[in-house]
Amino acid sequence: MHSLSHQDWLEEAKHLNIATGLFLDGQYVPSQDGATFDCINPADGSLIAKMAKGQAADVDAAVASGLRAWNDRRWRGLAPRARMQVLYKFADLIEQHANELALLETLDMGKPISDVLNIDLPEVTKTIRYFAECIDKMEGAVTHTAPEALHLILHEPLGVVAAITPWNYPMLMAIWKVAPILAAGNCVVLKPAEQAPLSCTKLAQLFVEAGGPAGVFNVVNGLGPEAGKALALHPDVIKLSFTGSTAVGKLLLGYAGQSNMKRVALETGGKSPQIFLSDLYDLDAAVDRAVGGIYDNAGQVCNAGSRLLVHRDLHDEFVKRFIARTAQTYVPGDPLNPATTLGPLVSHAQQRNVQGRIQRGLQEGAQLVMGRETLPAQFAAGAYVCPTLLVCARADLSVVQEEIFGPVTTVLSFETDEEALALANDSVYGLAASVWTRDLKKANHFVRELEAGVVWVNCFGDGDMTQPFGGYKQSGNSRDKHMMSLLSYTQSKSAWFNMGA
Ligand code: NAD
Repeated sequence: MHSLSHQDWLEEAKHLNIATGLFLDGQYVPSQDGATFDCINPADGSLIAKMAKGQAADVDAAVASGLRAWNDRRWRGLAPRARMQVLYKFADLIEQHANELALLETLDMGKPISDVLNIDLPEVTKTIRYFAECIDKMEGAVTHTAPEALHLILHEPLGVVAAITPWNYPMLMAIWKVAPILAAGNCVVLKPAEQAPLSCTKLAQLFVEAGGPAGVFNVVNGLGPEAGKALALHPDVIKLSFTGSTAVGKLLLGYAGQSNMKRVALETGGKSPQIFLSDLYDLDAAVDRAVGGIYDNAGQVCNAGSRLLVHRDLHDEFVKRFIARTAQTYVPGDPLNPATTLGPLVSHAQQRNVQGRIQRGLQEGAQLVMGRETLPAQFAAGAYVCPTLLVCARADLSVVQEEIFGPVTTVLSFETDEEALALANDSVYGLAASVWTRDLKKANHFVRELEAGVVWVNCFGDGDMTQPFGGYKQSGNSRDKHMMSLLSYTQSKSAWFNMGA
């Protein structure tokens, strides 16, 4: 099924059935006041659909639906194996609907369709299966106490958990939350990003088709300051799990304090450094990963390697090879063409935002060494930005300090290891970092000293479900993936039995 041609995909897109409703209590419904918002294709600016716009009343209905499902135990009351079977079936159905989901994601977000099929969707199903497998592997504890007492530690689900997610990997970022929330026995209300809402309601529908009880997985599309805020303020939401910008993450902490002190898990922004020491093994391999580390998904990646720190002796050759490699690999194209590696950004607003940040960097003294190319005329209406490389002499430039979330990276040079470390840690963010060296002792030193939740040595972006993913500092306070994430959607109960009476 993955071998459709560009023409086939264009044809399939014409016949695509798009569900525009909210997904509440196992079915699609319009918003209560009938309001909608426009869903735009960033590749050409055309209208794809008018989506139901959920607001406070719709959020109330979604949370009430989740609460009914929680109270009557229709999900958490199932035997672990029964819940596992539903989640396995859910993953199978996603595979069976891969083409439809890929089309929705590509039209909505501009991501190249080959990336959705080869990266996003396999990661989505892997995540669901991983957390399904964990369900009956989760164990509590019997602690060592005096013989006349028995003490148990139990892990119990929380209740109705909300998830608010971004647009860069719409399905995958949602599933990194939804899968462990459900596996732990909770109910979920998901609020996807309004820039790319199409695929997530479809996921909720497939969960129900897989045998998931209605009301356990609800989706409210809508705007952040309306539906998102209402969810974050809701008194019956016991935990809010968020992936998105640091600025919105800070607002959510405030909303939790103003309402019911709900737990707030944050996966937020990043400005990840990649450090290239002069003794690295293979410059071509390092450059190759550096290029992919920033231009995959048009740079709309939270852990994008957007600060390249290159040893002075390597700098000029590194930049030369980086430019050549990028030109070979990332050519803007129609995202429905399976050969395309670089699609548009998610929206024209994001395109203007990224272009504005590049201009500001240039005014501050950054030097543009790649990114002036004129786009072919057929892409003029799309939200495209060419891969951009800025050589920077100072670390205090806005393009070095602020997250850009587009295909833009900076390169700075350094002389000593300590200088490289200081540059790498000079950030309010701390999501990920990498170091390239053949010296194990140095690598160990960098791993210990880098202020980041994920550190890669001689690679970038590698990992699997066993790797907890999340940040230090203002990149967040929680971890996705791994058993750690599953446990974070439970609460511990201590049960102390008096056995001596
Ligand atoms: P964003 O913060 O603008 O939006 C994220 C979500 O928050 C959306 O669903 C949006 O509707 C909602 N939202 C916006 N304002 C809100 C409010 N006042 N109250 C409640 N909800 C609100 O982020 P984005 O532009 O969609 O995504 C890009 C950001 O996400 C980048 O900063 C990126 O680094 C981050 N991100 C982080 C990770 C990670 O794992 N750390 C992963 C992917 C993306």
